[in-house]
Amino acid sequence: MPTSRFARAHLFVAVLALAGFVAVPDGSDLQLVWQVAVGWYAAAVIVAAVRHHGAPMRLFWWLIALGVAGNASGILVEYVLMRVEGEPGFPSWADLAYLSLYPTVAAGLLMLIRRRTAERDWSSIVDATTLTTGMGLLAWIFMIKPAASDPSIGLLGHVASVAYPVGDVVLLAMTIRMLLAGGGRNVSFRLICAALVTFLAGDTAWAVINQAGWEPGPLAHSLLADVFLSGYLLFAAAAVHPDVRSLPRAVAPRPARPSRTLLVLLTAASLIGPGLLIVQASRHEVADTLSIGVGCAVLFLLVVTRMSQLVTQLDVQTQRVRELAVTDELTGLPNRRAWNIELPRTMENARRTGSPVAVALIDIDHFKRFNDAYGHPAGDLLLKEAAAAWADNVRAVDHLARYGGEEFILLMPGTTAAQAHEIVDRMLQATPLGQTFSAGVATWNGDEATDSLIARADAALYEAKNTGRNRISHATPHPLPA
Ligand code: GH3
Ligand code: MG
Ligand code: MG
Repeated sequence: MPTSRFARAHLFVAVLALAGFVAVPDGSDLQLVWQVAVGWYAAAVIVAAVRHHGAPMRLFWWLIALGVAGNASGILVEYVLMRVEGEPGFPSWADLAYLSLYPTVAAGLLMLIRRRTAERDWSSIVDATTLTTGMGLLAWIFMIKPAASDPSIGLLGHVASVAYPVGDVVLLAMTIRMLLAGGGRNVSFRLICAALVTFLAGDTAWAVINQAGWEPGPLAHSLLADVFLSGYLLFAAAAVHPDVRSLPRAVAPRPARPSRTLLVLLTAASLIGPGLLIVQASRHEVADTLSIGVGCAVLFLLVVTRMSQLVTQLDVQTQRVRELAVTDELTGLPNRRAWNIELPRTMENARRTGSPVAVALIDIDHFKRFNDAYGHPAGDLLLKEAAAAWADNVRAVDHLARYGGEEFILLMPGTTAAQAHEIVDRMLQATPLGQTFSAGVATWNGDEATDSLIARADAALYEAKNTGRNRISHATPHPLPA
């Protein structure tokens, strides 16, 4: 909703302009003056409002104002030509004025899209291209191709009559691109989109009426003209709203997974080609095989591109989830799950090669006291720093993991009890903040079950705690099988 006095005043004028216009007799001079006045008013409001708000992207707004003023001026030019020459030909200078809306608005939108997208999001570009290709195929078959092949108009006539639908397709492409580019949809943004959709709806309505050969009555004619006036006034409303200040804020791209609505739209766009073919074939008048074939091929390629984007994204995410599942969040060390995967692998290797294996269970001394004295966050930091320091003091072949709480476990393949002692002692010396730990070391005898091995390390740790902490105890050897 408009929040400033400026915005409220514009809303008042806009409602009056649109409602009043319908009451003006169709075909009268007043109707013509009214249309031109509304267009110029909207352009003036845009320029004044962005200045008033100190809005960024002045060039964008000037281009929009220029497009709106130019388009509205077409009505005046047409009137003057009518007065001077009787019936103005086609194309006339009026068409140039009408058409000026397309390049100016398109250039402005291109700027806006660039400013609003922080990084290039290919999935939304592919989606926008898919939707535009589908609509473009329709426009080509029903509007552009017939206009280009109408024998009753000269070369300039062809150019002008093709320019209107092409301009519409370009604006449509940009509207879709803006809508798909993700987040940050403030009121100004929505009003710009509404203005674009209004123009496109008006142009489409005219195209359908012309195709069908209808003659709209005075009221329908007035209402159709009102649609374009609404477009002008919506652009002005977008500039008048205070949100205009945050319009170009860059936004993160939306997630690559399309929403349900988008999926329906993409499906519909992809089916336009086959749909046209089926309709034409059922009437036994297949006239556009080449256009439809090219359209379908492009759409197929876009769908496959989108699919491969999704698969790539899925791979990346799966890899990330896999990493997260085996990593301890706080310390970044492998977690107990990772250790449980590693242990049988190492034991199997040792069994095959007959090499020794040592295991150390490590438990920080009086950690509860540390937490109580310095706070839980400081305790977290100690865990993090200790883990990093220890990781620096083990060998590349060793597996250090957080076993839980302030307990860690170290698996040392190819290591004797004496070597294990040396490694764990190095870790003890490296423990930060003057903290200590107790450790229980057990070595594998070539036969023992892993549960038993860890139980012996645990018993040794218990002993280290009971005999004064800050020390490394060795487990009593497991009896060799008879
Ligand atoms: P001991 O020398 O007998 O091992 O004494 P302790 O205080 O280290 O052992 P105890 O088992 O009594 O307490 C362990 C403490 O570790 C209790 C718990 O709050 C703390 N702790 C466990 N996990 C975390 C953690 O992730 N962050 C922090 N800050 N503290 C933790
Ligand atoms: Mg403990
Ligand atoms: Mg402890």
